[in-house]
Amino acid sequence: MRLLAESCEAIGATTKRLQKTAVVSDYLKSRTTDEAAVSAVFLSGRAFPAWEETTLQVGGSLLWRVVAELAGKDESALTAAYRKHGDLGAVAGEVLAERAGQGLGVLEVAATFRQIAAARGPAAKTALVRDLLARATPLEAKYIVKIVTGDLRIGLKESLVEEAIAKAYGGTLVEVQRANMLLGDIGETLRRAVEGRMAEAKMRMFHPLGFMLASPIESPEEGLSYFSEAAVEDKYDGIRAQAHVSEGEVKFFSRTRDEITESFPELPGALAGLPQDAILDGEIVAWEYPGRARAFSVLQKRLGRKKVSERMLQEIPVAYLVFDVLYAGGELLIDRPLRERARVLDGLLEAKRKITHHRDTEPRRKTRELQGKLGFGTEEETTAISILRAPVFRVRSPEELEELFIAAQGRGNEGLMIKDLDSAYTPGKRGKSWLKMKRELATLDVVVTAVEYGHGKRVGVLSDYTFAVWDTNKDRLVNIGKAYSGLTDVEIAEMTQWFLEHTIEDQGFRRTVEPKIVLEVAFNNMMQSDRHDSGYALRFPRIVRLRPDKTAKEADTISRVREIFASQARAERKA
Ligand code: AMP
Repeated sequence: MRLLAESCEAIGATTKRLQKTAVVSDYLKSRTTDEAAVSAVFLSGRAFPAWEETTLQVGGSLLWRVVAELAGKDESALTAAYRKHGDLGAVAGEVLAERAGQGLGVLEVAATFRQIAAARGPAAKTALVRDLLARATPLEAKYIVKIVTGDLRIGLKESLVEEAIAKAYGGTLVEVQRANMLLGDIGETLRRAVEGRMAEAKMRMFHPLGFMLASPIESPEEGLSYFSEAAVEDKYDGIRAQAHVSEGEVKFFSRTRDEITESFPELPGALAGLPQDAILDGEIVAWEYPGRARAFSVLQKRLGRKKVSERMLQEIPVAYLVFDVLYAGGELLIDRPLRERARVLDGLLEAKRKITHHRDTEPRRKTRELQGKLGFGTEEETTAISILRAPVFRVRSPEELEELFIAAQGRGNEGLMIKDLDSAYTPGKRGKSWLKMKRELATLDVVVTAVEYGHGKRVGVLSDYTFAVWDTNKDRLVNIGKAYSGLTDVEIAEMTQWFLEHTIEDQGFRRTVEPKIVLEVAFNNMMQSDRHDSGYALRFPRIVRLRPDKTAKEADTISRVREIFASQARAERKA
């Protein structure tokens, strides 16, 4: 771990990409394969390989307490160090003392991470973290803490680790990238590179692949400016899910690659009958029969539950709207153009439908058109099956796109997705092959009540803001959300200075500040929630701009929030 930590210091000390990869590659080569494999995961800023669901569940405050205790320092010394670095790892490196006999191997750290993940409850986790950090040198502790918090902050992305692997063990970068994408495990990718078996890396069922991402567009014209032929789909407001189906077994994975099958017990059975093994991409939405998605706030009630009650299943049924296929019948399809994947997908779902019909002895009702001409499913079938092909539309002009956009919103969906029919499926990438077109629900003028230090390039600046609206009488502020700054670097620097000078209470990580700064925030959706004292929470809040032209008293009140919530609910009912 000492060598790894020293290499990290060297990587952080240079901005040159080539130098960074050279340090990583030299380090990896100097280690055994087992050590190098674990190190590659750590260098990607993770405690465990990407595909794994395992998480440490160790938060900043637990680390903060352990570091303070081991250092024997009081709050204010730690706070001062934190203010200087804006990073808990760097704080640990500074305040912890060097003691004889310290020093850890990377394999030992990896084994302890597994124990921490398996430990139940904060007390057990704290004991393991304390023991680990006590045995580490201060420099090792610095990087252990950084790995635990999920960000090394040395300007090293997983893509650079991929480059270093290619450099260290031969093989092309493309081979390394592909193996890593298929395995979802940079450590396993490294092992294969060592053994010269990268080409054999196969997509593995039940190991989620990365998700292809979309870029936003500002206008219908822009939506049609990047490629010649577009497939247009509604943008559903639910959660993205990748389904793996193999020999009757079905699992769903979220965008963070966590398994979410348990939350949707009605879905696996519906996919089990696919005629071939497959990996599908789609969106899980709260569904209203016979044919439309309900708002995200409705689906939210179903999320994060281990057990879903019969009543929940009845009241908030879900559907899986499938829009892509990444693998089918033994073939990885991601390099094939969307137009071909779409054909395979249609074929798969159509074949499944026939099988279902054939097996069912009940007389079938007439197939009902759902949202578009590609929608299908009888009422009975949709209730029982809940798997739908997301309807695909074609447009020829920006005007048609705009019309379709309005229609999509009329159906209660967020907007549109515009996809290049000639594009490959690029896992984990945000490019211009998939575009998203949506409009903000509304904006609110809010007052900043507390601030936190940022991450990554926002280290050391106060860039995460908690904000509030007024209660009805404007005599009390109630928090409603938190957003990472959408402000420019200059604005953030100015705001940081202001917040430092106008702190009411300094809690180290967080500062309660004088409620004077007004921001305009946009968001996708609003829901009732007890997370904040307003009783509401915003989905995807974004700071649109500072409102220096407004005094705090001019910010919005909870009644405006209630109005927006009610109009959203009306739109939802209409939809
Ligand atoms: P955003 O979350 O705003 O970046 O938009 C991208 C997300 O839209 C995806 O990750 C999906 O969860 C969701 N989405 C909804 N409908 C579709 C669709 N038809 N195709 C692709 N993504 C969709």
